[in-house]
Amino acid sequence: MKSSELFDIAKTLIPGGVSSPVRAIKPYPFYTKRANGSRIYTEDGDELIDCCMGYGPLLLGHCHPVVKAAIEEQATNGWLYGTPTEKEIELAKIIACDHPSIDMCRFVSSGSEATMAAIRLARGYTNKKDIIKVEGGFHGAHDGVLIQAGSGALTMGVPDSAGVIPDVVSHTMQVPYNDIESLEEILSKNKDIAAFILEPVMGNVGPVLPEKDYLKEVRKITAENDVLLIMDEVICGYRVGIGGAQVMYDIKPDITTLGKIAGGGLPMGIFAGRKEIMELVAPAGPVYQAGTFSGNPLSVSAGIAALRYIHENSGLYDKLDGFTKEIEDYLPERYRNSFVRLGSMFKLYFRDSPPSNYVEAKQSDTEKFGKFWKGMLKEGIFLPPSQFETNFVSAAHTTGDIEKISEAYCKCL
Ligand SMILES: *Cc1c(COP(=O)(O)O)cnc(C)c1O
Repeated sequence: MKSSELFDIAKTLIPGGVSSPVRAIKPYPFYTKRANGSRIYTEDGDELIDCCMGYGPLLLGHCHPVVKAAIEEQATNGWLYGTPTEKEIELAKIIACDHPSIDMCRFVSSGSEATMAAIRLARGYTNKKDIIKVEGGFHGAHDGVLIQAGSGALTMGVPDSAGVIPDVVSHTMQVPYNDIESLEEILSKNKDIAAFILEPVMGNVGPVLPEKDYLKEVRKITAENDVLLIMDEVICGYRVGIGGAQVMYDIKPDITTLGKIAGGGLPMGIFAGRKEIMELVAPAGPVYQAGTFSGNPLSVSAGIAALRYIHENSGLYDKLDGFTKEIEDYLPERYRNSFVRLGSMFKLYFRDSPPSNYVEAKQSDTEKFGKFWKGMLKEGIFLPPSQFETNFVSAAHTTGDIEKISEAYCKCL
């Protein structure tokens, strides 16, 4: 059946026809039949070069043979035991080894779950109530982080979704990204702050990069104020390099959240940190956290296979960086300034300069982006369908793919 027909049926059975809102492309999304390497094959018979890569997890591309073999082998031996497995130890070892800030990990099933537990843990550890997040920073879809952006640094949060009660978000403050003064101001006025949670590199409004020394300053003043620093590396963990942004920028957060790539493309979330904090998690300590599918053998096996492969082929990060540089260099001069990239992450913002925070990113011309996006799809390139989602290239992309992407950019611009 064609995508348009499938979507008509889906809308009667699934709200909005999709399992996650960003997938609801107008007038209808294409339906995927299968995927391999850098390609997606649709129910309409199209072959597309994928620059969405499952919104981040597929660093190695679709259906990577090494990850596939690990999943198949595990599936032969069962996929859920309700008991611990040796593989969880192995994955925890790799992650602790790669991140100097991490001694212990707890595995969950999604990034949202990981940040929810990380915030609970920070409150349990500090015995303080409030948290600070970055305006426009994305930490998943749970109540405490669904707070409207643009409501001003020191005002109380306003829920960003029906069904979230104001009492819950009244404990969530926001500061603009790359703005140390606002953070200092909140910290000086409020002594009940458990944690500052941030994406070290903003990945969910497109990539917004930290200005020089921003993250170092963040680390310094959170430590001075006894506020835990939670680095949400669900998107940039193993994306910008082994050890994620914290190793790249040489920062030691108190708690780290991971997911996406660390699960090899299967459902995964991880919250992790130093022993003294992590040992407060149940059953070692009083901060409750649990899950039927936590540390499930399929996700853990896929994660181990992906991370081992990355370690054995760490040159892939330079290759991916070269790919996005090539796309940038190919662009007409006047667009290069608002093309933002970091390794395999990239985005062209339809505005004059690269944004330094959410408000600036939001000044992009989304109407122009919409037209551009449709043009790219016609050229056979699948970009995430929003000006505010990061594009990705994977290790499965070829120089031929990058040429096609670059040419399509020029043509559609
Ligand atoms: C994707 C993402 C999440 C949510 O992860 P899910 O697995 O979708 O629940 C949280 N934080 C960041 C930074 C993300 O990119």
